[in-house]
Amino acid sequence: MPSTECLPMTQESLETTCEVRVDLSAVRHNFRVIQEKIGSTRRALAVVKAGAYGLGLAPVARALRLAGCRHFVVAFPEEAFALRALLKDVDIYVLSGAFEGMERQFLSQNLIPVLNDEESLLRWQSVAAGAPCAIHIDTGMARTGLEPRDFERLLDLIKSLNTVCLMSHFAASDLADHPFNEIQRTRFETLCALVPSVPTCFANSCGLTLGSAFWGDFVRPGLSLYGLAPENAAEYGLRSALQVRARLIQVRTIDAGQSVGYAMTWQAQRPSRIATVAMGYADGLPRDLGNKGCMWLDGQEVPIIGRVSMDFTTLDLTDLPPAQGRVGDWVDLFYDGVTLSRQAQAAGTAPHTFLVGLGPRCARVYEG
Ligand SMILES: *Cc1c(COP(=O)(O)O)cnc(C)c1O
Repeated sequence: MPSTECLPMTQESLETTCEVRVDLSAVRHNFRVIQEKIGSTRRALAVVKAGAYGLGLAPVARALRLAGCRHFVVAFPEEAFALRALLKDVDIYVLSGAFEGMERQFLSQNLIPVLNDEESLLRWQSVAAGAPCAIHIDTGMARTGLEPRDFERLLDLIKSLNTVCLMSHFAASDLADHPFNEIQRTRFETLCALVPSVPTCFANSCGLTLGSAFWGDFVRPGLSLYGLAPENAAEYGLRSALQVRARLIQVRTIDAGQSVGYAMTWQAQRPSRIATVAMGYADGLPRDLGNKGCMWLDGQEVPIIGRVSMDFTTLDLTDLPPAQGRVGDWVDLFYDGVTLSRQAQAAGTAPHTFLVGLGPRCARVYEG
């Protein structure tokens, strides 16, 4: 047996060495499950910012619309224009609000700005009074939204607008027991009670697991639409809509003492069977996973060894049976919320960053 084996670099194999596989039937399923869970008196707004978290805005938005979704959230005007070109009959909320001078464009495209400060409230009132808007109240993120004292001071102005919902955002909903969740909830409810006729909009994906008291009338799931928030995937029966995988392109056996990769950060302690994967940090496999993360081959964990380089990553297959892990086999970077969370933790980052970091060389493959 030769000690090294390589993938023949035909055009076809080059095109399919790294894949982002999106299961649109899972996206439809997850939307329906979440809408069912919150009940018909509440509404789920689908968060599709950043190209539907890297899964692809157009296919994901169309799938959600097919599943009955009529309310979408994006971060910026450009994203809203792109979404409006795809879907004519849906509400589109824009988290950044309408930047100065964009109000008329928002009106003509029927977009709902999330107004975050006094100036934008005044501009909307003068240009677009009567057209729907949302208002974000900052209850603890200090990121976007009106300060509570400004919300109270501007109450008459706010009541004069066609406000379709009052929004706030959790800072720690992924930490279910954190007292800050309750602090934010109390602040939000106290302020919303000043305009009781306007629906509230509070929970993101992790907020859904905090219980209905933390939801508001509208919820704003992103990650869980894609089945990638383990906090509620199991409880709700959500399905992963995403698998990221790459092929083994070279497998070799090295001697004890040989090093692997840049800066020789890994040394074989025994004769080792190692494999090279056609995915590196240019494709969104974080460099921080070098010697820390793992990948999955047929559901079996194999450790990443050495530094991750731009195009390639190396794995230690020594503990697998020799028949497993051949050139051309696929290995997963992650395939559900649990494996994604593991990687995020190993890389010291949040699951979301993996999704939006997937590089342009990864082929997007849609099924369902
Ligand atoms: C991104 C975002 C969401 C969705 O968050 P997930 O954790 O993906 O569910 C909801 N609301 C706001 C304001 C956001 O920025």
